[in-house]
Amino acid sequence: MNIILLGPPGAGKGTQAAMLVEKFGITHISTGDMFREAIKQGRELGLQVKAIMEKGQLVPDELTVAVVRERLARPDCENGFLLDGFPRTIPQADALGGILAGLNRSLDTVINIEIPDDVLQSRMTGRRICRQCQATYHTLSNPPKHTGKCNKCGGELYQRSDDSEATVANRLVVYEQQTAPLVAYYCHKGVLKTINGNRELQEVFNNICRAVSGV
Ligand code: ADP
Ligand code: ADP
Ligand code: ZN
Repeated sequence: MNIILLGPPGAGKGTQAAMLVEKFGITHISTGDMFREAIKQGRELGLQVKAIMEKGQLVPDELTVAVVRERLARPDCENGFLLDGFPRTIPQADALGGILAGLNRSLDTVINIEIPDDVLQSRMTGRRICRQCQATYHTLSNPPKHTGKCNKCGGELYQRSDDSEATVANRLVVYEQQTAPLVAYYCHKGVLKTINGNRELQEVFNNICRAVSGV
């Protein structure tokens, strides 16, 4: 099963991705997580992307595609993968088509998570992430059992620097301009399924499971 999760920042892609990869036993590929990991480890890639991410802009296509190309070629993707936050531009989507053709694989479903902008603002500003395992929480809608601590591993929760109010607004503009055209792109390819993301977590999950199972 090869899936893409498409949707604006804060739509719930990462949250749903974690549940989906567990249920279907496929590999989670989040370009955002990979970039944040590179920054944390002080790698060359991290130095290249840090300032761009903090401004809420997109990392250049060439750099992003190179990271995904290398990741998709690893053996743990052979049983299926879930792309979360990639592609984000038409050139990235075209490049992905080429990469998959080269690996003799294809996309099964592109899930488009739809949600109103005003909800996205509060989704992002209330988001908290575990420093150790990247699990995602929300101060209001999905709080941890103990404030500031991850339920799964006890790690410290932090707020992403790009989840500040100023950057969030910019990321929504970037989404509309550069990523939203992918909805029509994948619709034309006949693989798009749209899901209402403005529902309770479990309900969104059930609807995505139904959509990827083709029922
Ligand atoms: P969100 O979950 O809020 O959508 P991500 O973790 O996916 O955010 O991405 C965080 C940031 O990482 C983006 O704002 C962008 O700077 C960078 N990024 C992640 N994926 C891509 C991509 N496919 N193309 C370009 N930049 C990306
Ligand atoms: P994305 O990866 O698309 O940027 P996340 O999965 O990180 O989005 O979710 C953004 C924020 O919204 C997180 O704080 C998360 O806990 C919360 N969240 C995700 N799904 C829901 C939902 N269905 N209802 C309420 N809050 C949600
Ligand atoms: Zn954790």
